[in-house]
Amino acid sequence: MTTDDKDLPPQTADEALARLRAGNARFVRGEACFPTVQKEVLADLSKGQQPYVTILGCSDSRVPPELVFDAGFGELFVIRVAGNVLGPSIMGTLQYAALHLHTPLFVVMGHEGCGAVKAAIASRFDGSPQAGRIEILLEQIIPALDDLDSQAEPADLLSAAVEANVRRTVRELLATPEAQAHMGEGKFRLVGAIYDLETGLVRFLD
Ligand SMILES: [Zn+2]
Repeated sequence: MTTDDKDLPPQTADEALARLRAGNARFVRGEACFPTVQKEVLADLSKGQQPYVTILGCSDSRVPPELVFDAGFGELFVIRVAGNVLGPSIMGTLQYAALHLHTPLFVVMGHEGCGAVKAAIASRFDGSPQAGRIEILLEQIIPALDDLDSQAEPADLLSAAVEANVRRTVRELLATPEAQAHMGEGKFRLVGAIYDLETGLVRFLD
């Protein structure tokens, strides 16, 4: 990728997705070029932001979107919350991204080995109690576990639950009136993704 390519922000969802894939590929190859921020770049960005993607990811310290996608300042509009769950503040932030930032692409990104999903599995299948506010968070994940095989190997169950949680969040967002309206106009695209802690690879879901 040349500097010139970097200077042209993606205009469509497909271009944005291609940019993310390319950035993640550089990251996985160990060839990330996350830029040292220059004063001119900061001065330019202080005038406004024009991110090309909105990412709802997990707070986990091992999944920083800018590094995973080898992206610079001003490129990604990021929401991070344990278990990448929805909630009133999250929905408001997503709506802001849609209405005011007009990012063409939205990504819900979960990750393998997610502690929040693991806790939701323990709560749902083993009845393990959690502190009150954590329990409220887990309630956002637990419905995604309904169709899973609780007798599966723990690692397989967790992996399936992580994906089910992402897919459920994507479905919930697609069902909102705002999403229906925007999708109808072909204004944006919403995709799920799973980050692999071991390989660093992001797998985009169909
Ligand atoms: Zn997590």
